[in-house]
Amino acid sequence: MNAVSSSAWRGSLPPASVDGRPTAKVVVKPGKAKPFFGRHPWVLEKAVDKIEGKPQDGDVVDLVAENGHFIARGLLNRNSRIVVRLYSWRPEKPLDEAFWKERLTRALELRKRLGCDAPGGGARLVFSEGDHASGLIVDRYADYLVLQISSLGIARQVGPLVEWLAAETGAKGVYLRLEKGMAQLEGLSLEEGLIAGTAPDGPVWIEENEIHYSIDLGTSQKTGFYLDQRENRRAAARWLAGARVLDAFCYTGSFGLNALKWGGAKEVLGVDSSEKAVEAARRHAERNGFSAQATYHVADVFDDLQARAEAKEKFDAVLLDPPKMARNRAQVDDALRAYYRLNRLAIDLLPPGGILVTSSCSGQVTREDLVSMLVGVAQKSGRDLQILEVRGAAPDHPVSASCSESEYLKCLICRVS
Ligand code: SAH
Repeated sequence: MNAVSSSAWRGSLPPASVDGRPTAKVVVKPGKAKPFFGRHPWVLEKAVDKIEGKPQDGDVVDLVAENGHFIARGLLNRNSRIVVRLYSWRPEKPLDEAFWKERLTRALELRKRLGCDAPGGGARLVFSEGDHASGLIVDRYADYLVLQISSLGIARQVGPLVEWLAAETGAKGVYLRLEKGMAQLEGLSLEEGLIAGTAPDGPVWIEENEIHYSIDLGTSQKTGFYLDQRENRRAAARWLAGARVLDAFCYTGSFGLNALKWGGAKEVLGVDSSEKAVEAARRHAERNGFSAQATYHVADVFDDLQARAEAKEKFDAVLLDPPKMARNRAQVDDALRAYYRLNRLAIDLLPPGGILVTSSCSGQVTREDLVSMLVGVAQKSGRDLQILEVRGAAPDHPVSASCSESEYLKCLICRVS
């Protein structure tokens, strides 16, 4: 391992305070403290009364009640929608290097326990709020790590830990990705790309559910692969024996390939608007020996489903895995309208007995919201819908009991009559 030093963060970030002690107090408005005693990690602007002291954004601060009592310790960013992200409810603990190492070690231990450390595999090693590390995601793809950072404060804290993380996981190289739009919102001036170690010669190959996928580190969507659907792909496959499957929003083909390999599906048509993803899906079908049964099409799924419904085309199963539709509460209604339209069109393509596998990865849209959307679809289409399985993200994407938004992925497997 020849990881370069963590000063390799490109872009300009002020250094983290070394002792991890608070430089200021953030006072919560009267009557607004309850969620934070309940360990919700996001302090929004509307909950803040005032800031006592002269902190810089990114600093360690203490959240205190109106009477001055300590509630929790976190990282400040007045430019962000989340003014303070909270990490510790223990006043005696500074947010120093030892604290972060302990937090990350706890996350890594969970993945070992899950058996997510197979050398050629992919796994989410650290999942932001789900691992009480709001703003930090670490994914492993075989010998490489991809860090996705979405908070200024956490960027400052994690910079000095990059080499340590690489050593702990045996990674040969570490990449940095920034969530689109988020970097600007947070005032993060970092560059994406390799930040430690060496780059692979070409794409990295991983194996998941005994299927091989290539990942272009640094240029692909998100951190490279949608690891959260790992177990849902296998679960969906169980219902797809002999089926002609429409894999809508197929990305690099994983749901469809699981249907072929594990479900005995007859054929798969994958549709995605990203040409690059579809090219990769074709390569993956070939690499895994399914070229003859898998075809792919670059198109907007809304238009594609509409055209197929108008042409009265039928599939035995439709899989819907759209991108995140709501980034905040205000967008939930629009998101539900889009989910409704997609699911309504999908149902029109299904004969009686057809299978619908419908996912949502919008943290703001709850499972109840999705079920009511499906009730609406059943009503309008005059079809009966049975929910066969209600599923979430794979367990390397844990849900924090205190942060319902971390339960972001829902996957419902349904049968239509
Ligand atoms: N099912 C995939 C992940 C899908 S992620 C898997 O398991 O790996 C969402 C996908 O939707 C992305 O590949 C993105 O390119 C695609 N996408 C986003 N908007 C789209 C649209 N309107 N029509 C078609 N594809 C779209």
